[in-house]
Amino acid sequence: MEFTGNVGENGYAAEPRSALIFLGTGCSSALPNARCLIQPSDPPCQVCFSSLSLSPDRNPNYRCNTSLLIDYCGRDGEHRYVLVDVGKTFREQVLRWFTFHKIPRIDSIVLTHEHADAVLGLDDIRTVQPHSPTNDIAPTPIYLTQEAMDSVDMKFPYLVRKKLKEGQEVRRVSQLEWKIIENDCQKPFVASGLELVPLPVMHGEDYISLGFLFGENCKVAYISDVSRILPTTEHHISESSGQQLDLLILDTLYKIAHVFIGFQTLDAVKRLRPKRALLIGMTHEFDHHKDNEFLREWSTSCMGTMIPFAASDLPRNDERKKELMFALQNV
Ligand SMILES: [Zn+2]
Ligand SMILES: [Zn+2]
Repeated sequence: MEFTGNVGENGYAAEPRSALIFLGTGCSSALPNARCLIQPSDPPCQVCFSSLSLSPDRNPNYRCNTSLLIDYCGRDGEHRYVLVDVGKTFREQVLRWFTFHKIPRIDSIVLTHEHADAVLGLDDIRTVQPHSPTNDIAPTPIYLTQEAMDSVDMKFPYLVRKKLKEGQEVRRVSQLEWKIIENDCQKPFVASGLELVPLPVMHGEDYISLGFLFGENCKVAYISDVSRILPTTEHHISESSGQQLDLLILDTLYKIAHVFIGFQTLDAVKRLRPKRALLIGMTHEFDHHKDNEFLREWSTSCMGTMIPFAASDLPRNDERKKELMFALQNV
């Protein structure tokens, strides 16, 4: 199965095929890191300072919270939009990428976990829903674990408990239909016609986050917040399980020299041996251009395949936009 860049003059909305849109590929604080700008180090942080000389849409080092939009084109030819994570920068991502790619709405939401960079944009989901002053609209299904549900209930009680108290007026808020999923590779679920398999991974040794495996004919694994891949999950997505991934999208947070750490990202890529990999979740330790050069050399010599960053925020008429979006034939 081949991935093809699929960007027309005005995005690809009319194309009868599925695609992945990287709405953001940055860490929790997003890039630029504000501290680097208001309390600059000596010498200053080049990655964050480049954000002052280039506009965000021309700067791959300007990175919003990690989030993926799966534009799923089913057998009926209809496009359905499945959003993975809704972080602190969701509004900015809608303004920049939904308008460019002509995304009219969200059909389902899937949460990897409930940290701020994955859920704090939930209030803004109302901006991609139909307008109704009385909240009289169909709620958007949102899939999350019970642990995440408990935490979201505390963060956004007004999105979870909709019953008005005596004398309380209607306030317009995001309308969401909460659906509990399990931390279990054997318990897939279907969001807007797309089957997703939960991939539990450790996100720190005291916390489980989910990645997701999806695609019928083209297998994609998305793992955005990970410190250690659990053996059952690794078995599920590694080449040795007889199910080589067409695309692995994997977290890489920090590095020392050219060792990508956070967890040992490149070691994991070597073990899993996907046909192709893209890296996400980078802090300001990563300079898109310099580190992509390193990845090109490393992946060609060690893997025989390309492993670039999944850069978002790319200019319209730039070849690099092919790294942003991949059309998946017959997902
Ligand atoms: Zn910085
Ligand atoms: Zn997290």
